[in-house]
Amino acid sequence: MYILIGGEKVELSERQETIIDIVKENGPITGENIAEKLSLSRATLRPDLAILTMAGFLDARPRVGYFYTGKTGSELLTEKVKQYEVSQFQSVPVVVKEDASVYDAISTMFLGDVGTLFVVNTANRLSGVVSRKDLLRASLGNQELNSIPVHIIMTRMPNITICYAGDALIEAAKKLIDKQIDALPVVKEMKDGLQVTGRITKTNITKVFVELILE
Ligand code: ADP
Repeated sequence: MYILIGGEKVELSERQETIIDIVKENGPITGENIAEKLSLSRATLRPDLAILTMAGFLDARPRVGYFYTGKTGSELLTEKVKQYEVSQFQSVPVVVKEDASVYDAISTMFLGDVGTLFVVNTANRLSGVVSRKDLLRASLGNQELNSIPVHIIMTRMPNITICYAGDALIEAAKKLIDKQIDALPVVKEMKDGLQVTGRITKTNITKVFVELILE
């Protein structure tokens, strides 16, 4: 079993696992009694008990002792992931103006190394989204990529799926799956529209998954 401390995954020590077993069987049990069962001093156990309590495996009640919260490692992991916010994982958005040409949009996509561009109006507010396939479709059999503005081919507001910096990351991930899209603009509501402040993509979500398991 392992715990997450400040986002870091830490393997439980053998002694900590034993403490959990003792509390599972005997709880509520005082620190003194746990120490006795392990033939250790109360002081030696203090850091382990503090870690297990902090991580949510054990709970402590004054004058009652320690008891097992009944949460497994994966339940605690789930709780942790549910606390992740979009703002902690978002990337920098790459935007183009509505009157940028399809040719410009393709160049911007390459230079920005992104798969989705957000389109903004003259007031710099979100007006649409352009994906790789939108650009491929517009390019098929078309020689005049310099003369078609992106606003002609983009998916436009109000049909844009968005998220906010304070949203739970898992909600943003769910939107990507439900809508079968690669990216969401992270937006901030302004008087005259939505300001694009970030981007959440399938890559951001994949990174979280790998970090949680491997790091
Ligand atoms: P691709 O089309 O390159 O596979 P996506 O799956 O992201 O990339 O896009 C599929 C379609 O959905 C495209 O037409 C695109 O304009 C649109 N789209 C992409 N992201 C969004 C979004 N956040 N909100 C609404 N529509 C989107």
